[in-house]
Amino acid sequence: MSFSSEVKEELERVIPDPRHCQLAELAAMICLGGRIGRGENGERKIELLSENSFVARKYFTLLKKTFIINVNADKVLQAIKVLDESGSPHQLSGEISPLLIRNSCCRRAFLRGAFLCVGSMSNPRKGYHLEFVCEYEAQARQIQQVICGFEIDAKIVRRKKYHVVYLKEGAGIVDLLNVMGAHVSLMLLENLRVEKEVRNSVNRKVNCEAANITKMVRAANKQIEDILLLQKNYGLSNLPDNLRQMAEIRLEHPESSLQELGKYLDPPVGKSGVNHRLRKLSEMAEGIKG
Ligand SMILES: [Zn+2]
Repeated sequence: MSFSSEVKEELERVIPDPRHCQLAELAAMICLGGRIGRGENGERKIELLSENSFVARKYFTLLKKTFIINVNADKVLQAIKVLDESGSPHQLSGEISPLLIRNSCCRRAFLRGAFLCVGSMSNPRKGYHLEFVCEYEAQARQIQQVICGFEIDAKIVRRKKYHVVYLKEGAGIVDLLNVMGAHVSLMLLENLRVEKEVRNSVNRKVNCEAANITKMVRAANKQIEDILLLQKNYGLSNLPDNLRQMAEIRLEHPESSLQELGKYLDPPVGKSGVNHRLRKLSEMAEGIKG
């Protein structure tokens, strides 16, 4: 099952107790995933279209909880406020009544219903992307507004005839899953993020160490070249004692660090002392080259 479906399956099982929340979730589902039509006898009917069986199951559960089953469609539409004053249905193109999502608990339920109907999420192993694909701009705006109300950043983009509300940041997606009540998915996502973070930081460290080693090897090669040049054109025995000893030790230990070289000297000197002497040798070599 895709990660997206896992989230939806989890959200299907989240049934809010208060009726206000149930109505808010139902309203989101009918507005975003519903169609209003006429039955054979002219009565109004609502259809809910969904690719996932658990979305349909949730719709049924909410209907059963909020209304006595077999209630007519008009009454449902009235209750979730998608009928206008004349009693005719909206095109379901607009937003749901703000009265339904006055409470923060209801706004969470609204987002849950919206995600179940038009939401999806990428596999977090491949990247972070969560989106709501809406047919109408007003719907996208309302979803964006509610998400931003939880201090989570969401943007809207046009994709063909759709208005897509999307989140691209791992942290924002984790927050939104939390708001909707998808706590198991959230933990899964967090674990993946931590894993990725650790992997990145190990990689960074390895890269950094590799870069340092390369730098060290390059510097050592240059020092050895310079010393060999001095040996050939000047003679190491003609160098002052401290530099001669330094040159010999470097040639004996081409792979040692400056710190290690310092310990081989008699008397031992620190890293900066070694650095100073090697620089001096290189300057003399440059003088010969020049
Ligand atoms: Zn509520």
